[in-house]
Amino acid sequence: MNVDVVIIGAGIAGSSIARWLSKYNISSVVLEKNNDIGLESTSTNHSLVCQGGDSLTFRPGTLHAEVNIKSIPLWPKLAEELNFPFKRIGGLWLIRDKADYLKYVKLRSRSFRSSSKPNSPYYIPEGSFKPLEFVDRKTLLDLEPYVNQEVLGALSDPNLAIVDSYKVAKSMAENAASNGIEFIFNQEIKKIERSGINYTIKTNDDEIRASYIINAAGINADRIAEMVGARDFSYVPLKGTLTDFDEDAGKIINHEVHYLPRMEDLPNLKTAVPTVNGLFRDGIYLEMSYRNNKEIKKEAVNHNIKAAKELFPNFPFEKHIEKTFTGFMAMTNPETGWHDFIIDIPNFIPNWVNIVLGPAGVTAAPMLGEKVGDLLRMSGLKLETNPRFDPTSKRGVGK
Ligand SMILES: Cc1cc2nc3c(=O)[nH]c(=O)nc-3n(C[C@H](O)[C@H](O)[C@H](O)COP(=O)(O)OP(=O)(O)OC[C@H]3O[C@@H](n4cnc5c(N)ncnc54)[C@H](O)[C@@H]3O)c2cc1C
Repeated sequence: MNVDVVIIGAGIAGSSIARWLSKYNISSVVLEKNNDIGLESTSTNHSLVCQGGDSLTFRPGTLHAEVNIKSIPLWPKLAEELNFPFKRIGGLWLIRDKADYLKYVKLRSRSFRSSSKPNSPYYIPEGSFKPLEFVDRKTLLDLEPYVNQEVLGALSDPNLAIVDSYKVAKSMAENAASNGIEFIFNQEIKKIERSGINYTIKTNDDEIRASYIINAAGINADRIAEMVGARDFSYVPLKGTLTDFDEDAGKIINHEVHYLPRMEDLPNLKTAVPTVNGLFRDGIYLEMSYRNNKEIKKEAVNHNIKAAKELFPNFPFEKHIEKTFTGFMAMTNPETGWHDFIIDIPNFIPNWVNIVLGPAGVTAAPMLGEKVGDLLRMSGLKLETNPRFDPTSKRGVGK
């Protein structure tokens, strides 16, 4: 098979880029090692549409900031076009003492920050975001009656929303497929050969030739890039364990609720969120681990129960566990904590784009196509509009 563009990986990154490419008259195929869309990090996360680590690892001027700030306002239209659930629930970040308050003052000052110049890459159109506001204890308890009664108040982010990121990726892929992009499953990339700007991709049972490659293999993006000497980046794979509690637990939470991590908590986080299906999702127990190690540790489940109880003390979470699962995120710059996305053409390897998202990567999905499109155009790919593109149509893909 010969195509213009091969996308490696059908997670939320590969699926959203495929949808964007389907707006143009090109031949493209998505190769995925699993038998469905989004079975790796895309389905093992909090499914928050948020500005990124809730500002904790989010620094104005980074690609992470730019892409997420531009993506967030695009989500409601995307949800409408593709008919997936999108709920604007808001976030409440709890204040236990003066130290928390002072940190939140700092975080608020850099939230949704942008340039006021329309041509700036960080420009946020007027009205895209509501400001973050401090709420007092009484207001907090009205909004979240079962939360820890000892907290002093919260910083509220009314912009924060939840989705089901698996469903998002699936609907993007189904739309891309109906507009002409092919998805092939059970195709693990084993080898890639480059001859100038021609690539031959060898999978477990096929061979595909392409002029452009988009490496959206998630936590394996480094291994794929290494196949052609296109790895000019590094990251640490972080394993995160999350627990879903049942619908009874889901009834006691309305917003995303979290504590700022303190030294004794790190690297674990205490974040709880309702899911679009009415469950209570909580974690994260974070650890360094081999990237294929999906083992669920007892300590991780215990951390998640403890975190849930610290946020909502009067609920017997241990009796309401639905399931616990693990996911991996690629953390660039772990030594400073200032994670950033990689969406870039590597040094010396033409017609190739590496995508590494990591924390808050789901949120970035609506803008990824535009960013990758700019790089493909720069690399000489002619993108002529597909007059038959339909933003709402779907064709089944995956299992
Ligand atoms: C615990 C946790 C919580 C998170 N919470 C949030 C959140 O609330 N909000 C948010 O915005 N982000 C969150 N994230 C981050 C988000 O999940 C990721 O950024 C996002 O899912 C990455 O998507 P992706 O498509 O790049 O990777 P993936 O979803 O991992 O997709 C990569 C695809 O490539 C395929 N692949 C890999 N190797 C090969 C190969 N050799 N051959 C063929 N196919 C291959 C995989 O099978 C996979 O389908 C969280 C992450 C974790 C781990």
